[in-house]
Amino acid sequence: MSHRPALIDRLAQRTAERAQAQLLRRLRTVEHAEGPWLESDGRRLLSFCSNDYLGLAQHPQLIAALKRVADDEGVGSGSAHLICGHRAEHAALEEALAEWTGRERALLFSTGYMANLGVMQALLQDGDVCVQDKLNHACLLDGTQLAGAELKRYPHADVAGAARQLASRSEAAALLATDGVFSMDGDIAPLRELASLCRREGATFMVDDAHGLGVLGDDGAGSLSALALGQREVPVLMATLGKALGCHGAFIAGSSALIDGLLQSARTYIYTTAMPPALAAAALTAVRVAREEDWRREKLAASIARFRDGARQLSLPLMPSPTAIQPLLLGEAQAALDAAQALEAQGFLVGAIRPPTIPQGKARLRITLSAAHEEEHIDRLLEALSGLALAAPV
Ligand code: PMP
Repeated sequence: MSHRPALIDRLAQRTAERAQAQLLRRLRTVEHAEGPWLESDGRRLLSFCSNDYLGLAQHPQLIAALKRVADDEGVGSGSAHLICGHRAEHAALEEALAEWTGRERALLFSTGYMANLGVMQALLQDGDVCVQDKLNHACLLDGTQLAGAELKRYPHADVAGAARQLASRSEAAALLATDGVFSMDGDIAPLRELASLCRREGATFMVDDAHGLGVLGDDGAGSLSALALGQREVPVLMATLGKALGCHGAFIAGSSALIDGLLQSARTYIYTTAMPPALAAAALTAVRVAREEDWRREKLAASIARFRDGARQLSLPLMPSPTAIQPLLLGEAQAALDAAQALEAQGFLVGAIRPPTIPQGKARLRITLSAAHEEEHIDRLLEALSGLALAAPV
């Protein structure tokens, strides 16, 4: 007789409940990727769900850098940064990231998730308050919990709401954290206003620019650079290398005092293996290419405009996003799932985003655009969408 341990039994129960509510997540295996095209289950699909916004993941110069260092040094770094895993490639990448984002220093983490957990656990402690936008990414919420600080959320992009939460903290030290570009909505946080609020209130301001770096700002230096918000206004900047930079990993950028402190105290930095040096070399190349190849941002901007114009003409339920993330708000989870399945049947891969990733009643198709898309790809997607009779929730 098979016996299932109690905790696994409880987990299985939760999975069954998700299945019953039609909220089961599905793991797809992609057999091959080429530009915006993916092959899955033996079918070729035009993808509108990758975060490779500049189309750099398959850039020949990135691939060459990765191969060169792998040939010279092998694959794994072999240890944590503070033991012997910190290579010249990591150091060069940190320097380039600091220079690009206009910060004194930068520190690499293996993923964005770990960077957010690490910086929050290092900065915050029991008795502190962390004020956050309600739509912030899950890892910012988890970071606050890990640090043992009190989480106070404000309505999306509501600066007055953020001010009320900060004012209610009395004497507690506070971190205010927001996504720069919201991952499921695509809109940009009111960064200038939040920076002023933090200055007035004596709160430390942190921005997660995972979806802004590479895409926004003159040479792609991100949403802060686009608004000329320097290290003084935003002392804690997090951004990832796995999205517009087409690689993997993340970093925190800020003052020497911040970076020195993280190096001593951020557990997700200290107790984990450093990213492969070949990957750091690829990311360093990605920084250079992202800065130099302006045409990628221009092409992406043209695709965003083309998609939004077309969607408006079709009265599709667009959300107010100026970025590469262009969700269509459908409301019920089933509506989003049905639409994604209908698109897949026509050869398009688009993510259906359902609770709890987004709030109840706000399920959507999360369409992401990339410099790898051609005009014809956008037009084909619009044509397919026009046949689905999509409507905004009432
Ligand atoms: N922050 C935001 C806003 C994100 O969207 C993501 C990735 N989905 C992360 C952090 C985590 O980054 P990573 O994938 O590198 O762990």
